[in-house]
Amino acid sequence: MFQFSYKLKVAERVKAKCERHPRYNPEREGRGGIKGGCSICFSLFDLHQARLSLDAAHREFLRRALPWTRVRRSRTKPQFPKQDEPPMQNTTL
Ligand SMILES: [Zn+2]
Repeated sequence: MFQFSYKLKVAERVKAKCERHPRYNPEREGRGGIKGGCSICFSLFDLHQARLSLDAAHREFLRRALPWTRVRRSRTKPQFPKQDEPPMQNTTL
């Protein structure tokens, strides 16, 4: 049987601001709040969109992974000791 495992880890901190329009907030003002077609503000807006997509993808990942997620061992003994299984082989993705 083919097995694969995913580990998801995202941690990026970004602080971005337009020099000419420091008050522009892509989250509040959206694309319509960009003045004079400022390319930097457009970049901020695109960054915000990318972040929303990432959040959505993260939620989707968690939703789909939930049935397969291994529950961490509680204080009780594991129900299915896995001594009979062969050692896990390296998976190539
Ligand atoms: Zn700007």
